Amino acid sequence: MKRRIINHWTAGTLFPNNQDLEHYHFLIDAKGLLYLGLHSVSSNDCVSFGDYAAHTGGGNTMSIGVAVCGMAGFVSPTNQGKYKLTKIQTEKLFETNAILAFQEGYEIIDDNILLTHMEFGLKHPYTSSAGKIDICRLPPYPDVKSQDVGDFIRKKSQWYLNKLLAKK
Ligand SMILES: [Zn+2]
Repeated sequence: MKRRIINHWTAGTLFPNNQDLEHYHFLIDAKGLLYLGLHSVSSNDCVSFGDYAAHTGGGNTMSIGVAVCGMAGFVSPTNQGKYKLTKIQTEKLFETNAILAFQEGYEIIDDNILLTHMEFGLKHPYTSSAGKIDICRLPPYPDVKSQDVGDFIRKKSQWYLNKLLAKK
């Protein structure tokens, strides 16, 4: 079984706090800087011992949690609060997804390999991830509607993956 990648927003400020570092494997701040969370990716290969990054209720096993920091106070597409994701930050998210997919040996990114927390909740309505709204909007891309965010992220991430594969 291969790992999958689940994208989140932290619902916090534009920079990670200690709680964020506990819950995700990788975090990206508003300036596009990448942070390593406190748990290793492999700690989520088996969650039975309780020492893992808890980022996706009902779906933590074999899941790499990548979060963009921000979106505290998000209410709706027209009221997104004051911690809106930046363009450099979302670009770094796409690139990070690609690097992880590359490391895991994937050449094609689909929604079994890379999905948002929101998509996971929709696919698994009987988990505590049901109803999660991250990631339903990408502020730098206001025209991308909620139901299209996952595909948009996968397409952008695939572009970066193709660049990595071309260098192989
Ligand atoms: Zn989430």
